[in-house]
Amino acid sequence: MDIDDTLLDYIPCCREAFEAAMDVLSTVHPTLSTVHSTPYTRDDLFSLFFEISGRLFSEAKHGLHTIAEVMELYPAEFCEKAGYPPQAVEPFKQAFRAAWGKTHTLVPYAVETLEALQQKGYRLFAASNSFGHLQRSRLEQAGILHFFEDTYISMDIGYDKPDVRFYEEALRRCQLKPLEVLMVGDSMTTDIIGAQNAGLATVFFSRRGDALPEDLSRSNLIVITSLPELLQYV
Ligand SMILES: [Mg+2]
Repeated sequence: MDIDDTLLDYIPCCREAFEAAMDVLSTVHPTLSTVHSTPYTRDDLFSLFFEISGRLFSEAKHGLHTIAEVMELYPAEFCEKAGYPPQAVEPFKQAFRAAWGKTHTLVPYAVETLEALQQKGYRLFAASNSFGHLQRSRLEQAGILHFFEDTYISMDIGYDKPDVRFYEEALRRCQLKPLEVLMVGDSMTTDIIGAQNAGLATVFFSRRGDALPEDLSRSNLIVITSLPELLQYV
C-alpha cells in the first residue's frame, strides 16, 4: 500500500510540518515582512509552498527529477520566491524534515481497513517515495506501523516509484511473485501504472473522485473512493 493520501492524509501533514518550519524560520529571519510591500500571510506562504512542492513532485513522477533531488529543490525554490536569503534554505529544510517525521494524520478508516485486511490473513507492505526513517516514524506515530511486515521506501530501495525497478526490488525483498501482490494507491502514475508495468494487480484509490483517463476508464481497473471499499474486492 502507498502511504501518502492512501493511509496518511497528505495536506494536513504537509501544513503541520510547514508551520513548524516557518516557526523556526521566523526566529532566524524575523524581518521577512519588510522584504515585501505587502507581507505574505502564512496562508499565502503555504499556498506558495504547496504549489512549488506539488509541481516538483509531479515532475518527478514523470522522470524529470529524482525524489532525492526534489527534497533539495523545493525548500530552495520556496525560500527564494518567499524572499528569504539563501542561508534560510538549510534551516527551513531541516525543520520541515524533522517535523514531517512526526506528522501522522490518518485517512478515514485506515486503521479499521488494515485491521480487517490483517484478519483476512493478508500480508501487508507499505510502498512510498520518501525517506525510510521518516515514513516509518510517521506510520509508528499513527499507530499503524505494526500492521506492516516490511516497508519499501524509495530512498532505501534506490529507485522511485513508478520505476519498475522499485517494484522488482520490493518483490525480491518479500519473495512474492507479481501476481501475488495487489498495489493500492492514490497516484495513477506512481502506484497504478508503475505497479502494472511490473506485473502487479492494482486498486486505484480515487480520494477526491478524480475522473479516470480515457484509456483506463474502459479497462478493468478497480477504483475505490474510500478505504473500506477495498474490502469488497479482497
Ligand atoms: Mg500517494
